[in-house]
Amino acid sequence: MGSWDSCKDMFIVDVRFHYYLRTWLNCTLDVIGTIVVIVYASPLFMLVVVPLGYLYFTIQRYYIASSRQIRRLAGASHTPVISHFSETLLGVSTVRAFGHQERFINQNKDVINENLVCFYNNVISNRWLAVRLEFLGNLMVFFAALFAVIANGKVDSTTVGLSISYALSITQSLNFWVRKACEIETNGISIERVCEYSNIVKEAPWILSSRPPAGWPNEGVIQFISYKVRYRPDIDYALQDISFQTSREEKIGIIGRTGAGKSTLTNCLFRIIERAGGKIIIDGIDISTIGLHDLRGNLNIIPQDPVLFSGTIQSNLDPLGKYSDFELWNALELCDLKNFVQSLPKKLQHEISESGENLSMGQRQLVCLARALLRKTKVLVLDEATASVDMETDNLVQSTIQKEFRNCTVLTIAHRLHSIMDSDRVLVLDSGKIAEFDTPQNLLQQRGVFYEMTSQAGIHQNEVNL
Ligand code: ATP
Ligand code: MG
Repeated sequence: MGSWDSCKDMFIVDVRFHYYLRTWLNCTLDVIGTIVVIVYASPLFMLVVVPLGYLYFTIQRYYIASSRQIRRLAGASHTPVISHFSETLLGVSTVRAFGHQERFINQNKDVINENLVCFYNNVISNRWLAVRLEFLGNLMVFFAALFAVIANGKVDSTTVGLSISYALSITQSLNFWVRKACEIETNGISIERVCEYSNIVKEAPWILSSRPPAGWPNEGVIQFISYKVRYRPDIDYALQDISFQTSREEKIGIIGRTGAGKSTLTNCLFRIIERAGGKIIIDGIDISTIGLHDLRGNLNIIPQDPVLFSGTIQSNLDPLGKYSDFELWNALELCDLKNFVQSLPKKLQHEISESGENLSMGQRQLVCLARALLRKTKVLVLDEATASVDMETDNLVQSTIQKEFRNCTVLTIAHRLHSIMDSDRVLVLDSGKIAEFDTPQNLLQQRGVFYEMTSQAGIHQNEVNL
């Protein structure tokens, strides 16, 4: 919705606005020209221009203010009509199954009625304006003719004819003049919005002069030093004073209650949000000193929310076309997707609809995993990577990850504690701070937060390989 609005704003600024401005200027010059011609023919007309002008601007001010609000209301009441209609179409089988057609028809009538109330007022306000403007226009014709008669032959008949024929066309020009002024005012909001967008703080540059060496990171040692971050300057820190260091190719499990800051920690690694203090160092390079492209291109993530784009399975796995079909099939096999893709009529060329809607949530996560397997960088982040797949596939995926990423540093965020029990170390987050960081065995012996969480999840100490 947001991006559609901004597209519309840009469209108005680039394509439409100059047209509104031009037609408004045309009308203005039309009206001024007509008045000049009439005043030239009968100078007495000057006397009525001032009161008529005052009347005109009062009517215009009144109309523009009301019309703007009525249009806003009409726009706001139009959205429920469309969304109710499309929601009903999407859930039509459920509506029929429960026999609630009547209720939905009535709801539809209600929202349409509400919209019509505004629409009707819009039409009426236009009529209101037309009646007054025509009255004003006719007054001008009347006075132009009256003063010509009063002049009693002092002005030649051709000039009188010209001034009256000009006066006759003024009604239409006045009408247009108000409408165009109204259009400019309503669409001026788009310019205001575009100006606001252009002041939004942008992301850091993609590539900086200091670039990491080829093959970075080659060890996968991640170090957080007194790291702090917050989403906006006016809210509290989402992460505070985070300091820890992984060793080479270590497998770290990250746990914590909902809202503890687990996803935030991964967002910081990719610099989706920028630090408020402290540093993150990966293999000796402070990540804030390199460009975002160099950073993000060298790390790998399977996000909480699996992101797919409309396109083929192939273009989703390998957007840059760097890998052979053999490698793609191999990655799919490792993620248990090979049989599924082979059963599709177009196989790798199968079209994925917008944001992957024609795949199940679990399948989307598996496609993301296959993508990560292909890119294979030294650091991998899994954010609830298998939250939506069944237990059997989860086990398969876990063993694939263990096997294929054994030479990588893997940060796993998991809600199912089972999947991180065999990590080398576990980082427990609590309200944005590190509560515990040690091997699962030591943490269990310490009987702290981790112990509590594992006993709640029904995992006993003897399940852990001591
Ligand atoms: P979950 O287990 O539910 O995924 P999480 O540990 O990943 O939780 P985060 O998403 O990292 O939690 O959120 C940490 C804190 O940051 C929360 O208090 C949350 O309210 C806040 N937060 C997260 N995203 C935003 C955002 N976009 N704007 C402002 N605050 C946010
Ligand atoms: Mg999260």
